Amino acid sequence: MSENISRLREILAFPKQVTIITHRNPDGDALGSSLGLAAFLRKSGHSVDVVAPSEYPEFFNYMHGIEKCIIFDTDPQAARKAVDRAEVIFCLDFNGLDRIDKLGENVQFSKAKKILIDHHLDPEPFTDIEFSDTQASSTSELVFKLIEDLGELSKIDPDLGACILSGIITDTGSFRYGTRVETYRIAGYLKSVGVDDHFVQDKIHNSLNEKKLRLLGHCLYNRMEVIKEYGVGIMYLNKKDYTDFDIQRGDTEGIVNYMLMVPEIVVAAFITEQPTIVKISLRSKGDISVQEIATKYFNGGGHKNASGGGVYASLNDIIDKLKKVIPLHVPKIQ
Ligand code: 5GP
Ligand code: MN
Repeated sequence: MSENISRLREILAFPKQVTIITHRNPDGDALGSSLGLAAFLRKSGHSVDVVAPSEYPEFFNYMHGIEKCIIFDTDPQAARKAVDRAEVIFCLDFNGLDRIDKLGENVQFSKAKKILIDHHLDPEPFTDIEFSDTQASSTSELVFKLIEDLGELSKIDPDLGACILSGIITDTGSFRYGTRVETYRIAGYLKSVGVDDHFVQDKIHNSLNEKKLRLLGHCLYNRMEVIKEYGVGIMYLNKKDYTDFDIQRGDTEGIVNYMLMVPEIVVAAFITEQPTIVKISLRSKGDISVQEIATKYFNGGGHKNASGGGVYASLNDIIDKLKKVIPLHVPKIQ
């Protein structure tokens, strides 16, 4: 047994007040890993709060326990209280305190034992125990392995398993990228204990409403530029688009990936003009690292093939900057 697992086992030997915290704009993996771990810890006799800095997309409502999730943006007091009273804090699916907004301070100054479970590159050293594996498809995969390494697989029931499978499905784009043998083994195990994978896939993929479908059409038809020379697709949404299409948090999730459906496009950028910041989402195929681009120029980070960032500048400045740095990172197509 690894040293980390022994230390964790010791920490969890008696019932504890636990807070699980995940990153802002929580996605399927952030929620799935957090809720899966929460269900496991509750079954083991601990009191558990789950906190997210900002709201999650509504279609994740099917996940067991999500209704108990505390959102900092809507209830900052409850969120701070949950962090402050914790004896143990699990930080899931993020690698730096800037990913949890103002709660970063509460976590930083908390006396709780802090445990990281994450698969992003270069985790910052703000926790006591790190379960960091950048080869893992998802943080949910790591939560499964943790439960397995603790010898507690029997605690994984269909509801808990559906949370973990949700994280794996969303972070791998339904097993299209980032997978390894473990990923399939875990998915197979989850199905074998009764997780309804068809239900989960349906909830995740058939969740668009008419507004989002039309927004997707607008992005593809009016807001996409392809730089053929480098195989780069750039898409943007300005503030007027946000008003015209009544875009809410989560409505733009996944749009960036459509550009990668074109074989020649190897890098996709989706740039959104938000109230105070311009956000960029980057995706790439193969060996091109958008993590480098996000870190170097856009105050962000993430994974080699999926990264993001945010900059206080104008939409046009960000688009121009991206166009300038493309030749430095993306090989020219012959
Ligand atoms: P998305 O493009 O879906 O927002 O994010 C893709 C990946 O990039 C995620 O795994 C996320 O962790 C990372 N990411 C997105 N935005 C930021 C950011 O502002 N800072 C950092 N460090 N990583 C980000
Ligand atoms: Mn993840």
